[in-house]
Amino acid sequence: MGRITTAGALGLAVVHQISQPLATIATYTHASRRLLQSGSADRDLVVESMAKAEAEVQRAGLIIERMREFTARGKKSVTAVNLGALAREIAEALGDDARRAGVRLRVAAPPVPSVTADRIQIEQVLVNLVRNAIEAGAALPTGKATVRIMLASRGEEVEVAVEDQGPGIPPEAAASLFEPFETSKANGMGLGLWLSRELVEGNGGRLWYDPGRKGGARFVFRLPRRGQDVL
Ligand code: ADP
Repeated sequence: MGRITTAGALGLAVVHQISQPLATIATYTHASRRLLQSGSADRDLVVESMAKAEAEVQRAGLIIERMREFTARGKKSVTAVNLGALAREIAEALGDDARRAGVRLRVAAPPVPSVTADRIQIEQVLVNLVRNAIEAGAALPTGKATVRIMLASRGEEVEVAVEDQGPGIPPEAAASLFEPFETSKANGMGLGLWLSRELVEGNGGRLWYDPGRKGGARFVFRLPRRGQDVL
C-alpha cells in the first residue's frame, strides 16, 4: 500500500514538474514565432529564445530519464555486497569531481560484514550522497573541505555515513528533504534523496539525515548484514 500511495503522489509531482518546462517552452517558441513573423526579427533575440526553449526540453527529458531509470529497474539483482570495496570504487570514480571542487575525499572502511543487496542500486545511492556532499563542500575555500565516507558494523546492520563540512541543512528544510522535487539548487531536480531512500528501503534498509557534528551534513544508511563473514 505504501508503495502505491508513493507512486500516486510521485505521478502528480512528475506531471507538475513536466508542465513547468512545457509552459516555458510554449512561451519562448511563441515569442520566437512572433519575432520571425514581424519580418524585422532581431536574430540574436530569436537565437536566445530558442536556446532557452531547448534548455527546457532537455530539463524535461532529464526528469523523464531519471524516472525511467527508477521504474525500469523494477527487478532487483541481489548478491552479497562488500560495501567497503564499493565505497573505495566510488571514491576513485568521483575523485576528479572532488578535486575540481577543491574537496578532499576520504574513505574510512574498517572490515565490516557483507550485506545482501542490489549492488547497482546501492552504488547509485552512494554516488548520489557523495555528489551532494562534494557540491556542499565546494562552498568552502579550496582545500578546506573534506568529505568522508565512513563504514561501521552496527549489530545486525552495516552502516555507511557520508559526512561533509558544507553549510548543512536548515531545520525548516530538513523535514521535506526526502520529498521528490525538493531542491535548493538552480539546476537541481530534487530526485536524488527521494530516490536514494526508496532504493535503500527497497533493499531492506533505512536512510536518514543527521546534522553533521561539525556543522555540515551527514547522511546515513544501514543495511541488514548478510551473515557472520567479515570482509
Ligand atoms: P538535488 O541535488 O537535485 O537538489 P537531492 O534530492 O539530491 O536533489 O537533494 C535535495 C536537496 O537537499 C538539495 O537541493 C539540497 O538543498 C539538500 N541537500 C542534499 N544533500 C546536501 C548536503 N550534503 N548538504 C547540504 N544540503 C544538501
